[in-house]
Amino acid sequence: KRIIQTEMVSEDAVIEKGLRPQKLDQYIGQEKAKNNLKIFIEAAKTRNEPLDHVLLYGPPGLGKTTLSTIIANEMGVNIKVTSGPAIEKPGEMAAILNNLSENDILFIDEIHRLNRQVEEVLYPAMEDYSIDIMIGKGQAARSIRLDLPKFTLIGATTRAGLLTAPLRDRFGVINKLEFYNISELKKIIIRSADILGVEIDDKGAEEMARRSRGTPRLANRLLKRVRDFAQVKYDGVITEDVANTALNLLEVDKLGLDRGDRSILDTIISKFAGGPVGLDTLAAALGEDSGTLEDVYEPYLIQNGLIQRTPRGRIATPTAYEHLGIPYEQ
Ligand code: ADP
Repeated sequence: KRIIQTEMVSEDAVIEKGLRPQKLDQYIGQEKAKNNLKIFIEAAKTRNEPLDHVLLYGPPGLGKTTLSTIIANEMGVNIKVTSGPAIEKPGEMAAILNNLSENDILFIDEIHRLNRQVEEVLYPAMEDYSIDIMIGKGQAARSIRLDLPKFTLIGATTRAGLLTAPLRDRFGVINKLEFYNISELKKIIIRSADILGVEIDDKGAEEMARRSRGTPRLANRLLKRVRDFAQVKYDGVITEDVANTALNLLEVDKLGLDRGDRSILDTIISKFAGGPVGLDTLAAALGEDSGTLEDVYEPYLIQNGLIQRTPRGRIATPTAYEHLGIPYEQ
């Protein structure tokens, strides 16, 4: 298990309780998505209609679920939460849709993992608020159309590229969530520390922000670990020194990289002469699944200019060499 893993792990459920912002103005950063959503929310409220279907995409832990709950709060409606892999049969999807109330939000996490038949139930539901149900068998089988309450679908995905075109085209609002910058993460950490009753100084928050990989979920998880450390070893206050020492012990380095990230960079550099190396070849050399490599490890490394994605494969940049302390020679 990686401490820096940005997907939800079991301890996060406890940590995140109480830390999730409830209103748009408590939701730090993501200004583009927020401004965009504010307009759509305002318009829908004025027309007294449900919000258009919303697709949120971006790496795990950036606040897709949180934002969806906030949208429901801002609209003053209920939200029902489910996920792509949890819905196996078309009938299950039909039942979920049929149980919604007028203007409700249906949140489907990992929507790219819906199977094709289940997904097809969504098309008429999203478009005309109706579903087609088959009645009877064989010769006598016929399809009847069932009206649904007007609802909003919010789909979340870490892999927008895997969405089928017919599904993607049915979303009226599409928002990409971005990694958070240091100053935004700092605000999130200070807010969380305040809620948790942890004392943290400005430099301490800054150091933690720097190593949180642009990801609020990780910032909160690291905060909890560093708090424990501060309580046991120091007087409970998170200073720069405490943050540094604790995060070094957790093997999260100055850029927020862990051993897994560093071994990716090191493999490209030492086994493939810095690249380019194809994703599958690299994955095989690391004994890692190529999908995981692409979705979980790479985005942050690319974002930080440590890896470049080229048509011929992945390249380690001079910054990567420098970070690992390996001399760069062209
Ligand atoms: P995702 O659904 O994208 O995986 P979540 O919505 O579950 O991510 O967010 C993970 C945690 O990070 C939340 O519990 C919340 O406490 C925190 N968080 C996410 N986005 C923000 C934000 N913009 N401001 C403050 N905290 C946030």
